[in-house]
Amino acid sequence: MVALISMRKVSKFFDTFQALKDVSLDVNLGEKVVICGPSGSGKSTLIRCINRLEAHEQGEIIVDGVTLTDDKATLEKIRGNVGMVFQQFNLFPHLTVLENLTLGPRRVLGLDPKAAEERAMKYLNRVRIPDQADKLPRQLSGGQQQRVAIARSLCMEPRILLFDEPTSALDPEMIAEVLDVMSELARDGMTMVVVTHEMGFARRVADKMVFMDKGQIVEVGPTEQVFTAPKSARFGAFIQQIL
Ligand code: ADP
Ligand code: MG
Repeated sequence: MVALISMRKVSKFFDTFQALKDVSLDVNLGEKVVICGPSGSGKSTLIRCINRLEAHEQGEIIVDGVTLTDDKATLEKIRGNVGMVFQQFNLFPHLTVLENLTLGPRRVLGLDPKAAEERAMKYLNRVRIPDQADKLPRQLSGGQQQRVAIARSLCMEPRILLFDEPTSALDPEMIAEVLDVMSELARDGMTMVVVTHEMGFARRVADKMVFMDKGQIVEVGPTEQVFTAPKSARFGAFIQQIL
C-alpha cells in the first residue's frame, strides 16, 4: 500500500480554539475515503489542511511524499497534485464554462490555448456537458455548475481530489447527477477524500469511512464494518439522525 496522504497527530487552532485534535489518517493510492460528522466537527478544516488552504500547527502531513510547509515550491507542488471541489462551486461568474476550465491549465501549467481547450472538452465530455461550454455559470443548473467545477479540477490532472460537501447546495433532483460523476471517477481509480452526508454514496463508493466529532476522528475503518458494527455509539446515533 502506498500512502498518498499521511496525517500524523495533526492539530489545528483558530486562536485558542482547537479545530483539529491529534488527527491521524492515511489515504492510500486509489482509495476513496468519506468523512462525515456533525456541523463544526472539523471536516472542512481537515481537508483544507491537506491542500494547505489551512496551515496546521502540530503534527505532520505528507502528501505524495511531500511534507507540508509554507515553502513556496512545496505549495505549488501540493496545489498541482491536489484538486478541490467546494460546496458553492466557486466558478468565475464572468467567464464561460470553457474559460473557467482553460484558465488553470494555461496560467499554471503553461498549456497553449489549443491544448488547454482540447483538455477542457475532454473533461466536459467526462462530466457529460460538452454542450454547455460557451455558457456562463449562471446559465446552468446547480448540478451542471458542480459538474463544471469537477471538470475544472480534472483539467489540472491532480493525483488526489478533495470534495467538501459537493452536493449540499444542490436541489434534491440534482444530487444524483453529481454523485454519478463522482462514482465514475472513483471507478476510474481516482484517489478521493469526500466530506458528505450522502450515506448511500458512501456505502457504494467509499473504501474507508471516517466519523468526526469535536475536532477528533472518533470512528475510522472499512466502510461496511463502520456501518454494520460501529465501535462508537456516537456514529450510530449520528447515522440514525441523518437517515
Ligand atoms: P465542519 O466542516 O465539520 O462543519 P469546520 O472544519 O468548518 O467544521 O469547523 C470546525 C470548527 O472550527 C468550527 O467550530 C468552526 O467554527 C471553527 N472554524 C473554522 N474555520 C474557522 C476560522 N477561519 N476561524 C475561526 N474558527 C474557525
Ligand atoms: Mg464544512
